[in-house]
Amino acid sequence: MQKVTLSVLLGCVLYHTVDLLAPEGYTTKLGALTGASTLLKEQSCPQAGVLRPSKNQDLWVDVTHQIASKEFRNQAVGWLSGAVQVPTESFDEMGPIGEDRRWDAFGPFHAYLHSAFPLVHTTLKRSEVNTYGLIYEWVASVDSFEKPLLLAAHQDVVPVDQTTLDQWKYPPYSGHYDGERIWGRGSNDDKSGLIGVLSAVETLIKNRFQPTRNLVLAFGFDEETSGLQGAGELYKVLDQKYGKDGIAMVVDEGMGFSEQYGSYVAGPGIAEKGSLNVQVEVKAPGGHSSVPPAHTSIGVLSALLVHFEQNPFDVQLTRNQPIYTTLQCIGEHAKEVPKDLRKLIKKSAESDKALGKLSSSVLEDHLMKSLVGNTQAIDIIGGGVKSNALPELAWAVVNHRISVTESVSALKARDTKLLEPIAKKFNLSFNAFGELLTEAGAPALGSLSLLDISRGGLDPAPITPTFGSEGAPFKLLSGTIKAAFNAYRSDLKSEASDIVVAPSMMSGNTDTRFYWNLTRHIFRYSHQNGGKNSNALSRGIHTVNEHIEVDAWLEMIQFYATLILNVDESTEV
Ligand SMILES: [Zn+2]
Repeated sequence: MQKVTLSVLLGCVLYHTVDLLAPEGYTTKLGALTGASTLLKEQSCPQAGVLRPSKNQDLWVDVTHQIASKEFRNQAVGWLSGAVQVPTESFDEMGPIGEDRRWDAFGPFHAYLHSAFPLVHTTLKRSEVNTYGLIYEWVASVDSFEKPLLLAAHQDVVPVDQTTLDQWKYPPYSGHYDGERIWGRGSNDDKSGLIGVLSAVETLIKNRFQPTRNLVLAFGFDEETSGLQGAGELYKVLDQKYGKDGIAMVVDEGMGFSEQYGSYVAGPGIAEKGSLNVQVEVKAPGGHSSVPPAHTSIGVLSALLVHFEQNPFDVQLTRNQPIYTTLQCIGEHAKEVPKDLRKLIKKSAESDKALGKLSSSVLEDHLMKSLVGNTQAIDIIGGGVKSNALPELAWAVVNHRISVTESVSALKARDTKLLEPIAKKFNLSFNAFGELLTEAGAPALGSLSLLDISRGGLDPAPITPTFGSEGAPFKLLSGTIKAAFNAYRSDLKSEASDIVVAPSMMSGNTDTRFYWNLTRHIFRYSHQNGGKNSNALSRGIHTVNEHIEVDAWLEMIQFYATLILNVDESTEV
């Protein structure tokens, strides 16, 4: 899970935007543009109604009351605290399961799940995939042809840096409960999600809920590294059983909700950026450095890398960006958005000029710019072995994150085009991603190769549909968010809700990158209340003092229980 959420960015960025607007004359200028008044009346971000279970209404009301009880709170604290106390660290470059002993940590975690959730383990069908991957299936009590809901989470946690131990308020694997929060590595990312789902299912079983369509839980165990051993293998089993588009919707870890401009805004992630690692390799003849050429391979590589940085990506906010949708929703529904900003956001739906203005203000923020556009970062470099020998090889790795509106192949084409003139300038043969672009055998002073070292890279995730004929799952999720939000505030009746649902995205990837084939309806959302501060860093995710507010954690359970019931009885998804 990524460290910084979008919503916190929006908070500061949009205030910044207002600062940039000329206070005088701005409104007049806007008014002068035709069509402004009709535009302002249009709904750019329709909100779903509150969706409460109806067939299982009584059961849902009972569950809601139970979650609000002191007994349940104690039990839930025990569930999550116990899970944090079983370390399940995953590391980069781990050896095969069974050989690399570090994987063994997941065995005790499985044993813990068995003992903590007895009803889940006697009611659901449990399968181990690639030893530590877990699939639980709650099989429908009747013959069902409806597609199942898939709830995903990961068992592994980011390793604790031993040099930071003294900075932890409580030991990282203590699962300490201070009366308000549970502390420790994984308490938030992502054991709150995994244990949240299991807590909801355990509670529903206890209340004698019987599903009428299958529910699937899939828990990977290396999300924080590559996901290949966990979700990568889980996918194969799920695909075998359910096939393309065989799942109604996937809900995995992701953004929660927080206060923005006087309103609560929930931001289910509907997109993920792609990535590509490019190795830039320069080879040149070796020899004694007392008789050097004008440029060694290291000198040439340096020129290439400087050229990369002198040519950053041109980033523009466009209307097909999920972040643009987020802005539209905030502009439309958040209560305290400054008037001029609200107008600009609305106007930008039709006016390119307004869009340009909004774009340049929003992208002033570096984090926002990184979310919207392609990025490049030169992360590793190597070359040369001896002070008196000419380096025969010099190389560097450039890490790209790919905008949701771009692709791996477009990125490769861009890098190729970017470096071509430099290859020519230094008279190098040029091989870009396996294709020789210079004449074979032509005289050259050396060679330049671009290599994809990320197994084909990762294209951006398909954007989850949120409206039109394919918008039903998003609508169901939105209605569920509102019902869970209300219910947790003891409102079991209102048709209105104080929470705005705004499709959104985050910069990191989740295990869902393996699940695209199973459904077009993937949501990265965990319904965690961030309050006024939605910055995940403030909750210690991926750093010291990771924790979760118990109130926020109980509300997550309320959300999962409501979602399971709503999907079960839906005729729309
Ligand atoms: Zn995570």
